[in-house]
Amino acid sequence: MERASQLAGLRQEQVFDLLVIGGGATGCGIALDAASRGLSVALVEKNDFSEGTSSRSTKLVHGGVRYLEMAVKRFDRTQYNLVRDGLRERGLLLKNAPHLSSRLPLVTPLYSWWQVPYIFAGLKFYDLLAGKAGIGHSRLIGRKEALARFPMLKAHGLKAGVLYYDGQFNDARTAVALAMTAAEQGATVVSHVEVTALLKEGGRVRGAELLDRLSGTSFSLRARGVVNATGPFTDQVRRLDDPAAPDLLKVSSGIHIVLDQRFAPPDTGLMIPSTEDGRVLFVLPWEGHALVGTTDEEAEVDEHPRARPEEIAYLLRHVRRYFDLQVDEGDIKAVWAGLRPLVYAADAGNTARLARDHFIQGSPSGLLTITGGKWTTYREMAEDVVDQAVKSFELPPRRPCHTADIPLAGGVDYHPGGDCALAERFSLPPKTALHLHRAYGDRAAAVAELARAAGNRPLIEGHPYLEGEVIYAARHEAVGRAIDLLARRLPLALLDRAAALAALPRVIELLAPELSWDEARRGEERRLAEERLTGAI
Ligand code: FAD
Repeated sequence: MERASQLAGLRQEQVFDLLVIGGGATGCGIALDAASRGLSVALVEKNDFSEGTSSRSTKLVHGGVRYLEMAVKRFDRTQYNLVRDGLRERGLLLKNAPHLSSRLPLVTPLYSWWQVPYIFAGLKFYDLLAGKAGIGHSRLIGRKEALARFPMLKAHGLKAGVLYYDGQFNDARTAVALAMTAAEQGATVVSHVEVTALLKEGGRVRGAELLDRLSGTSFSLRARGVVNATGPFTDQVRRLDDPAAPDLLKVSSGIHIVLDQRFAPPDTGLMIPSTEDGRVLFVLPWEGHALVGTTDEEAEVDEHPRARPEEIAYLLRHVRRYFDLQVDEGDIKAVWAGLRPLVYAADAGNTARLARDHFIQGSPSGLLTITGGKWTTYREMAEDVVDQAVKSFELPPRRPCHTADIPLAGGVDYHPGGDCALAERFSLPPKTALHLHRAYGDRAAAVAELARAAGNRPLIEGHPYLEGEVIYAARHEAVGRAIDLLARRLPLALLDRAAALAALPRVIELLAPELSWDEARRGEERRLAEERLTGAI
C-alpha cells in the first residue's frame, strides 16, 4: 500500500459504492468490512491514518472494567451490553491481530479491606461476562504476590490485590494494518486527503470535494453513499451536509504520560480502581516504557490537542500516591492528549458518565454518521454501519460480513516465538528481532531484508528501530510525512520526544528519495515535525 498509487486509484473509479470519511479505527474498520463484502470503497483521511484519537488511546483491548461498575451500580443495560460486546470483540482482535496485541495481566492494589470483596466480585463478574471469550481467570492475590508482580507499588498499607486479564495492543499500527488489509481486499485508502464539501444530486449526498493536503490539488469523487466516521470531527462533517445540524457530540480530553521502565515491570500492568475523582487509572508496560493514563476533561475539538498542565499534575500526583518512587515532570519522556468522541446525552452530568456506546444516524439527505464506541469494538461498529449502508444506499454486496475471520496484515502466518529465528537469520539483536516480529508479524522477514540491504543500521541509539523500517514504511505503509513515520509507524515520538527529534534529520534523508521530496519539501517536513515534537503532537 503505497500512498501515490492509492491516490491515483481515487480517480480511476467512476462511482464508488461507498466513500468513507476518516481513517481512524472506525473508518479503517468500515473500509475493510465493506471491501471484504465485495463493495467498491474509497476511504480518505485528512491527516495520517489514526492521527486523530486512534493513536492516542490507553492501548487496552478491553470490555471496560469501569463501565461494568456503572452497569452494576446503576442497573444500566447499555453499559452492561457494552462490556459484554467489548469482551467478545476483545477476543476477536486478539485472534485477528496476534502480532499487534497480547494478553496482559493487571494487578489491582487494594489498600482497605472493604475494597477486597467489592473489587474481587466485580472482576469475577467481568470473567463471567466474557464467557468463552475469556482470556484468564481473575483471582485474589496476597500483599506479597501483589508486590512481587508490581514491585514499585507503595508497600505501606497494602492489604491485598486482584489479578485480572485484559488485552493490550499497538493502536496506531493496528489502524495501518486495517488500512492495508482493506487495500488488499480492494479498497482505495488515502491519507492526507480532506473532504472539504459534500456533493449532492437531487438532494442526496452523492460524493465529495476532496483536497490532497500534500499537493494542494482539489478534485471530486462520486459515490452511491457516504459514511462520516470522523470521530471528534463528526459534527463538523455533519454541518457540511446541513449547516444547521445541532451538535451530536461532546468531546473530552484524555492525556497520557510516558515514564521510563523503572515505573512498570515488563509484563504486568496496574489498574488503580478509584482515583481522587472516582475514575480508574492505568500504569502499563509499553514498548519498554511505562504508560500512565488517563484523564477525562471537557475539551474543544482540535486536530492536535494539548495536554494541560493540570492534567499532567493529576497523573503525577497519582503515581506519587501509589508508588514507592519519586517522580516529577523531569521524568516524563513524552506526553500526548486524545479526544474522546462521546455521544451527547443531555441528561448526563459530566462527560465521564456518558455511555461509550456507538451511535449511527442517517441524515435526511443520506449522509450516514457513525460515532462513539471504542477502539476494541471497531469491528462491530463497522459491521453495523455497513449493514445500514447496504440498506440505505441499496448496495449490492457479494458476501455477508465476515470480518470476524479476517486476519489483519501481518497476522496470517504469525507464530509467537518467531523472533528467535528472525534474529538468527538476519543477525539481529534479540530486542530488534522481537520488535520487528511484533510490529510486522508475518511480514517481519520482508522488513528485515530491506534493513539488511540498508546495512542493518539502527535509526537511533537506545531504541530497537532500524533504518530499513523507514524505507519499508514509505513503500508499503503509505507514509506521507516524516512525522507519520516517527509518531505512528514507529511510536518513537510518543515514547521519547528527544530521541524522535534526534532521528528526524535521518528520517527525512531516507524518505526523500522514496517519496521524491525536493529541498523545499524536506524543509517543510522538518519544520512541521519539529513543531509537533516540541509542542502538541
Ligand atoms: P478518530 O481516530 O479520531 O478518527 C477520525 C478521523 O477522521 C481522524 O483521523 C480525522 O483526521 C479524520 N477526519 C476528520 N475530518 C475529516 C475530513 N473532513 N476529511 C477527512 N478526514 C477527516 N478505546 C479502547 O478500546 N481502548 C482504550 O484503551 C482506549 N483508550 C482511550 C484513551 C483515550 C485518552 C481516548 C481519548 C480514547 C480511548 N479509547 C480507547 C477510545 C478509542 O480510542 C476511540 O473510540 C477511537 O479511537 C475512535 O476512533 P474513530 O475512528 O472514531 O476516531
